[in-house]
Amino acid sequence: MPSMRKDLTLFGGYHSPQVEVDVRLNTNESPLGPSIEFLSDLQAAIQSLSLNRYPDRTAARLREALAALHDVSPDEIFIANGSNEVISTLLLAYGGPGRKAMTFEPTYAMYAQVAKVTSTEHVGIERGLDFTLDLAAVLDANIKYRPDIVFFCSPNNPTGLDEDPEIISKLAEDSNPLIIIDEAYGQFASFSALKLARSHSNIVVSNTFSKVWSMAGLRLGYLIGPKEIIDNLWATCLPYHIDSIKQAAGLLALGHLDAMQATHDLILAGRYQFETGFDALDVIYWKSSANFILFRAPHGKGDELWKMLVDGSVLVRNCSGWPRLSDCLRVTVGTPQENDRFLKVLSEALVELRSEVDPR
Ligand SMILES: *Cc1c(COP(=O)(O)O)cnc(C)c1O
Repeated sequence: MPSMRKDLTLFGGYHSPQVEVDVRLNTNESPLGPSIEFLSDLQAAIQSLSLNRYPDRTAARLREALAALHDVSPDEIFIANGSNEVISTLLLAYGGPGRKAMTFEPTYAMYAQVAKVTSTEHVGIERGLDFTLDLAAVLDANIKYRPDIVFFCSPNNPTGLDEDPEIISKLAEDSNPLIIIDEAYGQFASFSALKLARSHSNIVVSNTFSKVWSMAGLRLGYLIGPKEIIDNLWATCLPYHIDSIKQAAGLLALGHLDAMQATHDLILAGRYQFETGFDALDVIYWKSSANFILFRAPHGKGDELWKMLVDGSVLVRNCSGWPRLSDCLRVTVGTPQENDRFLKVLSEALVELRSEVDPR
């Protein structure tokens, strides 16, 4: 038997620890399931599908509906099994040996991971101290490394900060790498890069049904960009990769915009609840444009705080071992009850930790 590809051995892959707890606020999903109306419509739709037949290969109806939603042409939309598969298809088509992808760290780890799997060279540029980007630094890095592909994540995971559209458009005009803007949390942000994609031939924007649409379990994501790029992605992906049930589900979800909007509003209220809670507890955090917030534990206590939260049956993402993020944890906005529970357990843990730091 052959061994695994040498460049992939000793490579752990991407995973977020799953622990049995009452309150799961670690993977940025929606805290609410899809609406009852959506579920009963989906059930009926499944019954009318011919599951013995292959699905519509290019998901024409779903593309038309998404095109109408975003005011673009259906030719400008690629669909895949979650935006992670969008990223992977992009790197299969435009990355690979001899090609280079650039990211701004810290950011979503999947870009580097998929670069590695597709043998695309990865260049990670450090963000500024406050995790924002500086135009001159971005343009310098572009000249120094000449990447084929540049990833932006807006709002950025795990910091929650928006990218600067000015920097993205300057970079797009400065040279012509393929620029991908991942808007997995775009609905919670104050701006979308979509208009940049409309006016630049080298900018594409990805989106997902995994967050505000409450459909992470269905695995559905898409990319909007110029037709030439989109055509290349359809040529690269496997045939029939988007199953019929998923196509029906996506189409139905778009017919229930009100449910999505209600989830969106609940999450924004929850984000505000966290901000007020953190302020009251004197916790350092980054002002988020997404459905999660990055915050900092007392010095040297990141792992300990994470464990104390787990002991209180609340799971958040422990980022404290990640480069640049010492003592940082990332919490996803949940239901109001889950948010209360998190803040209560956090407050009790901080009393204990702070008394250790400063014994009186
Ligand atoms: C959650 C997330 C995604 C979503 O991935 P799916 O494959 O669509 O579930 C994409 N990008 C970022 C930055 C994310 O945090």
